[in-house]
Amino acid sequence: MKMQPVINVKNLSHYYGKGDLKKQVLFGVSLEIYSGEIVLMTGPSGSGKTTLLTLVGALRSGQEGSLKVLGKEMCGAREDDMVDVRRHIGYIFQAHNLLKSLTAIQNVQMALELHDYSKQERREKAAQMLTAVGLANRMDYYPENLSGGQKQRVAIARALVSSPKIVLADEPTAALDSKSGQEVVEIMRKLAKDFGCTILLVTHDDRILHVADRIVHMEDGRLSADKTHQKVPVSTVPQSRPIIS
Ligand code: ADP
Ligand code: MG
Repeated sequence: MKMQPVINVKNLSHYYGKGDLKKQVLFGVSLEIYSGEIVLMTGPSGSGKTTLLTLVGALRSGQEGSLKVLGKEMCGAREDDMVDVRRHIGYIFQAHNLLKSLTAIQNVQMALELHDYSKQERREKAAQMLTAVGLANRMDYYPENLSGGQKQRVAIARALVSSPKIVLADEPTAALDSKSGQEVVEIMRKLAKDFGCTILLVTHDDRILHVADRIVHMEDGRLSADKTHQKVPVSTVPQSRPIIS
């Protein structure tokens, strides 16, 4: 059986606005990512990285070209197909987006609410994941009583607790000092390898590039392989994992 990429972007273009204000921000982007790969995307501000991430994450609909996520075409997809794909994706953003009125463990449990678990199972899974990110002794803390790095680790636990096939992270270390940033990506890398999930991570942070299996570079809406940071040839990475039907 031929390996199917988990994320398969072909000649994807994207535009914002209409009529005279229509502006193209992605120009024929192509990118294949296989199961278990950690791909980092670099590039200047305004080059289209977040746009590509939200398209891959089925948070906005694809307009032109082809974008297959877990084998499903997202260009011109119906809302319920997009919702379906979102269930298999964990999102981590620059601002951790934790709910202030919920404790760490409640924030993590929330990510399981759409899934078929009992209350007890949700609590157990959330506790396990918080332990995995080193926050076993902070479970009942509210976000305001956690440091920046700790909040981002809660956000990681929340993104990973439902065992998503794909994790999308948009500048997850931007608000962190160097040490916390390193810790956060190291935890992500370890969990991704343990759980076999695929990571696409946007970053400006040169200090975390070493976690990548592969680095791609976005410039003016065009994507290229980053030759300077290439670590693993793409062809050595793929191994087989089931993809949702
Ligand atoms: P990056 O994440 O690399 O900084 P973005 O994907 O956020 O880049 O933005 C790419 C371009 O699209 C920028 O010129 C930005 O101003 C524009 N843009 C982003 N989001 C929107 C939007 N919702 N409406 C209109 N233009 C947008
Ligand atoms: Mg951005």
